[in-house]
Amino acid sequence: KRRPLWIGERSSKKRYTAGPITTQKPGPSTVSVQDKDAPLSGRLPVYLWRHFTFGRPYMSRKKSWILLLIAIVIAVLWFGYRSGWFDSARTQGPATTSASNPAAPQNPELAGQAGLTHESPHLALGTPADATPEDEHLLLKPQYALSYKSAIVSPAWVAWKIDAGSYGTVPRYEGKFFPETGLPAGLPIATHDDYSKSGFDRGHLCRSLDRTDTVENNRATFSMANIIPQTHDLNGGPWLKFEDYCANLARESGKTVWVVAGGSYSTEPARIGKNRVAVPTASWKVVAVLDQGIKPDLITSTSGIRLIAVEMPNTRGIIRHDWKQYRRSVDEIESRTGYDFFGRLPSRIQKDLEARTDSL
Ligand code: MN
Ligand code: MN
Repeated sequence: KRRPLWIGERSSKKRYTAGPITTQKPGPSTVSVQDKDAPLSGRLPVYLWRHFTFGRPYMSRKKSWILLLIAIVIAVLWFGYRSGWFDSARTQGPATTSASNPAAPQNPELAGQAGLTHESPHLALGTPADATPEDEHLLLKPQYALSYKSAIVSPAWVAWKIDAGSYGTVPRYEGKFFPETGLPAGLPIATHDDYSKSGFDRGHLCRSLDRTDTVENNRATFSMANIIPQTHDLNGGPWLKFEDYCANLARESGKTVWVVAGGSYSTEPARIGKNRVAVPTASWKVVAVLDQGIKPDLITSTSGIRLIAVEMPNTRGIIRHDWKQYRRSVDEIESRTGYDFFGRLPSRIQKDLEARTDSL
């Protein structure tokens, strides 16, 4: 008759070793006496079972308790990490300028005004503006600028600039896509898992391949606020080919390319995932290509500047399609989306260029 042992108390002076058990009675126990020569893979489950059922003679009670506590602490930390407890501390910082931050030059009364620009190189040709700016939230990052729309749990648009300096040798970020932490608390935001098994790709707007100069810049493209649902046939088909075409202009031809992209949505869009991310019926993109030496704020003629606009259906069966068949005029995308693009260009030049459909 022995009283129970307290944590840390030794049951006897005998030292416990991981030898074969000789004192155990044969019985219906599922844990059998182990064979020292059995392969580790066979012995390991028994070993672990003994530890976590406080079994002797493998380990003293004290050691078992400590191991169990360490396991619990690791489990809690891991759970916390996966739940994003540490996210804001890790990724929120001076790198992101939120529109609700007084430092950002956001003025709700001016947001609808054509031509308004913000302190972002990605918005040098203007901030896309529609008649209802109050249902969106502007977010400026070093890598791109975006307008987040809670109603679709997605960006309404993402704008970014590419030139030869955007490209380097950094490999594609390998982690999971992460929920955006730069938005005000309380907005519904998408997570990596919302897209899992949905049948849709996590379609980058500012793509990973256009931010390969630094690890940090590449990682930033994996924010879920830069992602919309795209079919694989769109994402890996004409959309990709047009991305490659634009990248080539920046990389090989010395152009500076300003891009704005987003989705077109029906009034009652299909939804995916726990956070009910809206699925667009199409993806659109408007692009301004400026010749070398043309400065965005000194444009007085239509020479040296080319606009390209596309709208591609978010459907299957288009993977082999050429991107060129989806060209539209910027005016068509403006009337479809309600945004005015390139509002900082003189209106006479907008009027001329935006009415054309690129045919190069
Ligand atoms: Mn893509
Ligand atoms: Mn315009």
